[in-house]
Amino acid sequence: MGRIWRISGPLIIAEEMKGAQVYEIVEIGEEGLIGEIIGLEGDRAMIQAHEDTVGLEVGQGVSGMGRILTAELGPGIVGSIYDGLQKPLTVLMESGSFLKRGVKVSRLPRDRKWHFTPQVAAGDRVNGGDIIGTVPETELIEHRVMVPLGMGGVVKEIGEGDYTVEEPVAWVEVDGEVQGLTLMQEWPVRKPRPYKRRLAPSQLLITGMRIMDYMFPLALGGKAAIPGGFGTGKTVALQQLARWAQTHLNIYVGCGERGNEMADVLYSFRQLKDPSTGRLLQEKEVFLANTSNMPVVAREASIFVGITIAEYFRDMGYDILLVADSTSRWAEAMREVGGRLEEMPGEEGFPAYLGSRLSSFYERAGLVECEGSPQRRGSVTIVGAVSPPGADFSEPVTQNTLRIVDALYSLDVSLANRRHFPTISWLSSYSLYVDAVRDWWSNVAPEWEQTRATALKILQEEAGLEEIVRLVGPEALPEKDKLLLLVARMIREDFLMQSAYHEIDTYCLPQRAHSMLATILKFYELAGKLSEEGISVAEIRSSPLVYKISRMKDIPHDEFDDRIKQLWDEMEVGLVSHKGVA
Ligand code: ADP
Ligand code: MG
Repeated sequence: MGRIWRISGPLIIAEEMKGAQVYEIVEIGEEGLIGEIIGLEGDRAMIQAHEDTVGLEVGQGVSGMGRILTAELGPGIVGSIYDGLQKPLTVLMESGSFLKRGVKVSRLPRDRKWHFTPQVAAGDRVNGGDIIGTVPETELIEHRVMVPLGMGGVVKEIGEGDYTVEEPVAWVEVDGEVQGLTLMQEWPVRKPRPYKRRLAPSQLLITGMRIMDYMFPLALGGKAAIPGGFGTGKTVALQQLARWAQTHLNIYVGCGERGNEMADVLYSFRQLKDPSTGRLLQEKEVFLANTSNMPVVAREASIFVGITIAEYFRDMGYDILLVADSTSRWAEAMREVGGRLEEMPGEEGFPAYLGSRLSSFYERAGLVECEGSPQRRGSVTIVGAVSPPGADFSEPVTQNTLRIVDALYSLDVSLANRRHFPTISWLSSYSLYVDAVRDWWSNVAPEWEQTRATALKILQEEAGLEEIVRLVGPEALPEKDKLLLLVARMIREDFLMQSAYHEIDTYCLPQRAHSMLATILKFYELAGKLSEEGISVAEIRSSPLVYKISRMKDIPHDEFDDRIKQLWDEMEVGLVSHKGVA
């Protein structure tokens, strides 16, 4: 046991800490605040406190716990709301110890019983990662109980029944010694969980957001960032992803962001239903939030606890999405700790290891063949928000993130000012997964690639014309360009714009997205013929069909196909020259 020698905000230096290890968890002071050793020098330990250090005094005790920061993994995680150290906030709130420091509470419920059904029998040989049975954790998630990694032996006893997370569900003989296997296991959060093999992503991660799914697709197992200035829609975008992404489990990490926003998300998840199953979204969601009683340095823990939970469910053979809002807040915490440690700062005061720390997070995304039998695949997809001060994307966090991610959704302040949401820029966003999901898309809409390319080209041409329009006004343009501007506007407003608060349009399946864009391009084709025959674009623009196309978003999902077919018929009739424009 050592003693506090110096306190500097969240950084504590303790002396007489011989034998301590880097990343070891310590308990500090009388309340036993949790901290993590981040550096050692002689018998002094640099400790990052995960709880508020106000009131601690020099000389108070510090004891090493002989273990590193771990996540508790087992049934009871799904639907939970945790703080950054995986303490359940609901339990803290009920027990009246919310916002108190040093409270010890178990991360998984100890008293709850789970119904376990075995999938292996006595006499079977099992190894790390093998699924030995299942527990229905929620209606949407079947918890697949796995042999802890690195363990292996012969099953002596296993039986169906109701168990708490601490009661052995099976007995396994390992090297002549019989050990109990429980529903619960632990894993050190900074260490990536192993897998057999990494696979190239090939499936679209369906987000329900047209500009993502159609224009800049994200693949299952991919890594993406959403940088944007204040108020450009990062939080809403991540909330939308966590709500509607067609993954098995979504993890929302609220990292240093405003508390009332977190409350909003939580509330909405208790109301909203998953579109494909009709079950409450809460049954496929995990929340991690830094609360106001946690100092900035705990942000880092929440990121790693989140990704560890993601990998654990991936290992069961599931597709997981983790969203983090915002990684900039986490980087700022790194800067604060680095500054107090008097480390040699890098760019803008961030530590030199900023890039490697960010990549140690993003690199845990991926599609993998999981450890153990039966053979299965799982994926973790990561989307991180980045909030550059002053929306200046040249700052170090944005730049370092750009080097790591394979898809970028760049939020544009000028779009936010025009109330065009989502503000994802079609000119400066990109996705390196376009090739990966081509086959996926060709099964849904064979013309996807062509349609996407055409639409992006129209938008680029519109941007090119902007300068001329500014100089001479739109009326001076040739008719061909006027029509292009009309169609570009339709693509922007009737396709790319998608309000998170629209009852129907908040979520759009890929097939529907394709029909919407194909309708606009069909209009372009027919209107182009009219224009060639001498009908003015002014006349075409006033066609009721233009208005009807703009209302495609309001069509209820179950009527969509019929109504679009009708619309196409009307276009064929209405956009023919000898009749003028209907
Ligand atoms: P940020 O997290 O980037 O600061 P928010 O996500 O909080 O920004 O968005 C700010 C506001 O912009 C929201 O409160 C909302 O009014 C509007 N907004 C953002 N995204 C959308 C969207 N997809 N649909 C409709 N409104 C949006
Ligand atoms: Mg925000």
